[in-house]
Amino acid sequence: MFLSDDREWPAPATNPENEAFFVAAAQGRLLYGRCRVCGRAHYYPRHSCPHCFSTEVDWAEASGRGHIYTYTVTGAASDRQVLAFVELEEGVRMLSNIVDAAPGRLAVGTPVRVAFGRAGSVRVPVFVLDRVGEGT
Ligand SMILES: [Zn+2]
Repeated sequence: MFLSDDREWPAPATNPENEAFFVAAAQGRLLYGRCRVCGRAHYYPRHSCPHCFSTEVDWAEASGRGHIYTYTVTGAASDRQVLAFVELEEGVRMLSNIVDAAPGRLAVGTPVRVAFGRAGSVRVPVFVLDRVGEGT
């Protein structure tokens, strides 16, 4: 899912190490890293495993579903941002933004799903509340 509004997020620095991540994001797919040696998942994707330092890591595609692990609301109402650590179904936590959510609907454990916002020439993962099962 791509955000359809005019918001523009700060463009991340891209390089050969994270190129596959941003190519996938442009296609609406969220990747994370998985280590072939210790089997653990990690985010932010990189060439070496942060758990065991092996360089035998693969890309894996996340379902895009997860929940809010923790969050904070910053800025004035006109410029509010919700920064959150989202824990994906695959078990990795990633720092991102929750968009289009009234503060009263935010809570630790709330289901979210990934969306992709524009950031210069690339797309970046952000999250929206997952309304599956709410009948909306
Ligand atoms: Zn490892």
